[in-house]
Amino acid sequence: MTELRLNDTQRTALDALIAATRPLSAYDVLDALRATRPTAAPPTAYRALERLIGLGLAHRLESINAYVACCAEHTDASPLFAICDDCGLVDEVSDHDAVASLSASAGRSGFAPKKSVVELHGVCAGCQRGAA
Ligand SMILES: [Zn+2]
Ligand SMILES: [Zn+2]
Repeated sequence: MTELRLNDTQRTALDALIAATRPLSAYDVLDALRATRPTAAPPTAYRALERLIGLGLAHRLESINAYVACCAEHTDASPLFAICDDCGLVDEVSDHDAVASLSASAGRSGFAPKKSVVELHGVCAGCQRGAA
């Protein structure tokens, strides 16, 4: 179990990400850590998040500078996210074909892709229904 490799801080950070229905900023995670460690400082939150990302338990969304728990089964470092700009909902999509196709396109010009984080921005199904 990967959980056994987490210390208390990392576990608390992961629990906060899993409990959240929206992506969390590093400061949201820091707030969660301070519930049990009032003296926790920002580097503590960043280190815990880096560790979770390294273990594949969480992802950083570059375009909105926030973090989510990994909710898909994938062994490569190429997640794909659909981000709702209205409500902030993030859906992790497992589509290896899409990522493989992007890598192949880049590879044709001699580029050697190592990892990718694809982030699609738009409006989720729930928000579209609400607007109708
Ligand atoms: Zn993931
Ligand atoms: Zn939405």
